[in-house]
Amino acid sequence: MRYFDYNATAPMPRDVSDAWLRAYEVSWMNPSSPYLQAASVRVRLEAARDRLSSILGCDSGEVVFNSGATEGNNAILAFLGETCPQGKRVLASVMEHPSVIEPVRRFVQDRVEWLEVGRDGLVNLAMLQERLKSGDIHAVIMMAANNETGILAPWSEVRDLCRAEGVFYHCDAVQWMGKLPAEGLGGCSFVTGCAHKFGGPKGCGFIKVPGGVGPISLMAGGFQEKGHRPGTENYPSIEGMLSALESCVTGDPSSRDAFEAIVQEKVPGTVVVGSESPRLWNTSMLILPEFSNTRWVNCLSSMDFLVSTGSACATAKEGSSHVLAAMSFSPEEASRAVRASGGWSTSRQDWLNLADAIVEVYVKLTADKGSVNGGGQVIEP
Ligand code: PLP
Repeated sequence: MRYFDYNATAPMPRDVSDAWLRAYEVSWMNPSSPYLQAASVRVRLEAARDRLSSILGCDSGEVVFNSGATEGNNAILAFLGETCPQGKRVLASVMEHPSVIEPVRRFVQDRVEWLEVGRDGLVNLAMLQERLKSGDIHAVIMMAANNETGILAPWSEVRDLCRAEGVFYHCDAVQWMGKLPAEGLGGCSFVTGCAHKFGGPKGCGFIKVPGGVGPISLMAGGFQEKGHRPGTENYPSIEGMLSALESCVTGDPSSRDAFEAIVQEKVPGTVVVGSESPRLWNTSMLILPEFSNTRWVNCLSSMDFLVSTGSACATAKEGSSHVLAAMSFSPEEASRAVRASGGWSTSRQDWLNLADAIVEVYVKLTADKGSVNGGGQVIEP
């Protein structure tokens, strides 16, 4: 099997599952229990917090462990909605993941101002800077790397602009973490991340919350994580998350680029989404010239190549990608979009094999079309 859906979730490497299981076997007690035997779990939990804070570049006390990014984004948006004074606005990029967009709608409501993007998938920074100077902005919401296209947002510039104006900045760094260096993310007011996108366990993640703020939790019922996230900490999964994150290395886009060049040459009319923008090294979103993306995904999966039509969350529901729509692609173009996202163990040969498989599917579907219609007009099922 050739897995090209790392942006949906990543497999857990053996050394990570070993670290995770070892933590379960040795450190299964509740870190808040009052006896000495449990204190060692507390010590390890706090060491994990220190390790993550040094990766992000923030104070250890600003790191909060939770169940993942959907929870984190909801808690942060609830806080920003609740604290947004009358007359102030929250600026949010239209490219955000649904776990940000829906909480913005729910908690910020009509105080949101959506930041549009160009065909390059990027917000106009000069306009943002101008808007920030107005003095009526409470917060800016802009993800670090887009899950569908891999396009990288200028989060460090946005962080600095927000800091200069005393405005909160929330950065969903789910797709950035583990793929690119995270240092400096800790300078954003809020950050979300989740372990399963970089080879850690599912149901485990974190937020960075600025010191002295909150508690920001949507939940009541406990004092853990300074009240930002009540409930017993899942130390074994946190250990697995840190073990995965520490073993990630930054990849190189050359194999992905070679893949794109072959597909563009052999499947004429293929568009690489965001090709002019900085992108994650592992992600390629293609708009193929013909045939629906579900047909592409099915044909490729029958050959054991697993790719996606976009975000895993979006595939469960009707309608086309809001990300491609924001970049001015039509719904018809979006219906031909296929995303391939490799990982740390994806080889150059895997990418080249995927390119060959796409070309093979293209030749086959084109031939089938010709025989079904007697070479005449195409009727797409
Ligand atoms: N944010 C981004 C950018 C994502 O890609 C995802 C998952 O696809 C999430 C948030 C939500 O993560 P989870 O489903 O693990 O809570």
